[in-house]
Amino acid sequence: MNLGGLLKEAARQLTGPAADLEAEVLLRYLTGLSRAELFSRRHQPTDSRTAAAYDELIKRLKSGEPLQYITGHMEFYGLDFEVSPAVLIPRPETELLVEQALAVATDYPAPVIADIGCGSGAVAVALAKNLPKATVVATDISSAVLALAGRNADLHECHNIEFVESDLLASIITRNFDIICANLPYVPVDEAKDNRFEPQLALAGGPDGLDIIRRLVSQVAALSRKPGWLMLEFGTGQADAVKGILSQSLPGSRTDIIHDFIPLERLSV
Ligand code: GLN
Repeated sequence: MNLGGLLKEAARQLTGPAADLEAEVLLRYLTGLSRAELFSRRHQPTDSRTAAAYDELIKRLKSGEPLQYITGHMEFYGLDFEVSPAVLIPRPETELLVEQALAVATDYPAPVIADIGCGSGAVAVALAKNLPKATVVATDISSAVLALAGRNADLHECHNIEFVESDLLASIITRNFDIICANLPYVPVDEAKDNRFEPQLALAGGPDGLDIIRRLVSQVAALSRKPGWLMLEFGTGQADAVKGILSQSLPGSRTDIIHDFIPLERLSV
């Protein structure tokens, strides 16, 4: 069989709406060929080892393993990120959090921004890259996750990110921030269990999903200098509960709920 034949057969097996693209991404991942090279070599015969290895990748994808974990890459905010099963795969809708943070950051000549629970570092890197005068402090509770986020910062030559191992704000409680943003786990624990591949640590937020957001908000309330902005991603149906948490811990602050393009309620500012 030739490369083009492998592609066609894989796309047939994958069936879904993105089958052609997935088949191509996996074959490029396996062969290291660019899209143009793959096209120009589509009549080139393949050896049985390549065919078997490709078949193995297709099987993994068919079993539900996310494409991004198989290839180790995900694009977010126009940038390429390394991902692994230790971190949540950055979601396109989280770009909204970045956009909102970038918009309010223009009010500060040299904003100091915290990204709490940074995971792969996608949000922190997107912010740092687009705000060269900012200082971004990215925290995560897992040192392995921070190592991966650090590699992503290096990949994009972001020298304005500081990584701190911390349980939310606990280790940086004396610092002052203009903007605190966070895409914390917010999925109710029973639902999160349905996700077999991504880390529960990044998804599950207790019985109603909001345990970790509640803890962060109470840490923010205890800061001696409150940030100008607290931006939280959360899930559909959680807006009223999040508003309640904010009005209880940070009375008098303004709350805006922004709906993303899913369209679901997501972001509280
Ligand atoms: N948006 C993710 C999901 O629905 C959850 C992300 C998170 O918990 N922060 O799977």
